[in-house]
Amino acid sequence: MTDEIESFVGGRFVPPSTGSWLDKLRPADGSLLCRVARSGAADVDAAVRAARAAQTAWAERTAVERGELVREIALRLRERRQEASQLVVEETGKSPATALGETDAAVEMGLFVAGEGRRNYGRTTTASMPGRTVMAVRQPVGVVGLIISFNTPLPNVAWKVFPAIFCGNAAVLKPSEETPVSAWFFAQIAQECGLPAGVFTVVHGLGSEAGAALVEHPDVDLVSFTGSSATGRWINETAGRRLAKVCLELGGKNALVVCDDADLENAVCWSCASAFSNAGQRCAAASRIVVFDSVYDEFRSRFIGAAAKLDDVGPVVSELSLDRILGAIERAREQGATVVSGGERLPGPGWHLAPTILENVAPDADISCTELFGPVTILYRVSGFAEALALVNDSPYGLTAAIHTQSLHRAMRFADKVQAGVVVVNGGTHGSEPHMGFGGVKQSGTGWREAGTEALDVYSDWKYVNLIADPAKV
Ligand code: NAD
Repeated sequence: MTDEIESFVGGRFVPPSTGSWLDKLRPADGSLLCRVARSGAADVDAAVRAARAAQTAWAERTAVERGELVREIALRLRERRQEASQLVVEETGKSPATALGETDAAVEMGLFVAGEGRRNYGRTTTASMPGRTVMAVRQPVGVVGLIISFNTPLPNVAWKVFPAIFCGNAAVLKPSEETPVSAWFFAQIAQECGLPAGVFTVVHGLGSEAGAALVEHPDVDLVSFTGSSATGRWINETAGRRLAKVCLELGGKNALVVCDDADLENAVCWSCASAFSNAGQRCAAASRIVVFDSVYDEFRSRFIGAAAKLDDVGPVVSELSLDRILGAIERAREQGATVVSGGERLPGPGWHLAPTILENVAPDADISCTELFGPVTILYRVSGFAEALALVNDSPYGLTAAIHTQSLHRAMRFADKVQAGVVVVNGGTHGSEPHMGFGGVKQSGTGWREAGTEALDVYSDWKYVNLIADPAKV
């Protein structure tokens, strides 16, 4: 670990040309962890130029070679998984077990993408003209700007960087200013593994400065963003003006439905994990729990009991975030919500909020429609399946959803009709793996899917090659 987190440009760690630094504090206790480069537009321009200079030669490498380098990086990360996860613990305040699990998930993503080096399949298709063969082949997009959230820092890097570079692009990453350390560590590993200079670049800094400059840079061909819907909207408008390709993975207000035939113990267990793990800082967090009237009271008392026993919720990422969440809870209270559990900052250092459960909240109240990104969930009482489905779909977001039922018929109907990119039956509102596409509908995204081979569609463009052979000329 170092005291100063520099950017990684053209294969070297460099200080910001601005001469400015940001303080990164530990969420667990508020102490100073390190200083972080506060890059400006000139730093972003240097990064994009370095990327452009490297991209053509990188794309000349075969997919097999690029896959091998991705594998090297993933394996090196696996070798140093304890060290990597310790850094994640420091910069996020998560438990060591959670951080290690996330590090392993990042490694798995690399290994999955590396395997594409021996596949990278295209298609051939028939044609109306005799002798004409048509092949669809993948082409790199060029220089890609990757902007990510803080919540699962290493998987967030892995989900974008591995497929981006595998596809033959040069990637410029702007990590969250809240979690710069894991991206800095990832850059070290890429350097050690001999990734050519400029193929992977990290520019640290604020979203409104370094992030915005990357989005606005005329030589960035693709912006791939994971973060809030508000920022995503601005990015789409700004990069859209120059018709750049834009992939957005955005927020959620995900619902978990508990039917009257649910296994209540299982439903309580998954509700706790979905609502409160990672301090609710998951795009797929269950922030709405919709319970059938006949089991509401029983579920409610078990859920409150289980939430009170949780001991590894962890802090939220910053004081600002904690104040924002507490403010939203206070406004909900003023509008008639009842706080049945939590709702208070925990005593002691750091930014800890007790797992919070609300009820008596209208489906159209502000807090029902706004993602909080904290350990806060709302209980809703419904008469039955139709009302539950309508409530779940009555949301600006559509990322994930879950239903707890023993009925195949209810499960299938829910899976068919719920407006979400991911549906889970009898589990949590999350559960993506490296080989599974992930993304949402409505304000949760713009239709792209990350992870899985679907990610290759983000980081490459299809080219249709027509070959016309004349048998008379054989
Ligand atoms: P955020 O939008 O505040 O920031 C995300 C990133 O964008 C950060 O790196 C930030 O510095 C940068 N940024 C901010 N303003 C910018 C601008 N004007 N131009 C360019 N970059 C800018 O979000 P956050 O608080 O870091 O993350 C939480 C959000 O991320 C939640 O909404 C969550 O649901 C979402 N998220 C979505 C997914 C998904 O896959 N759909 C996964 C994780 C997180």
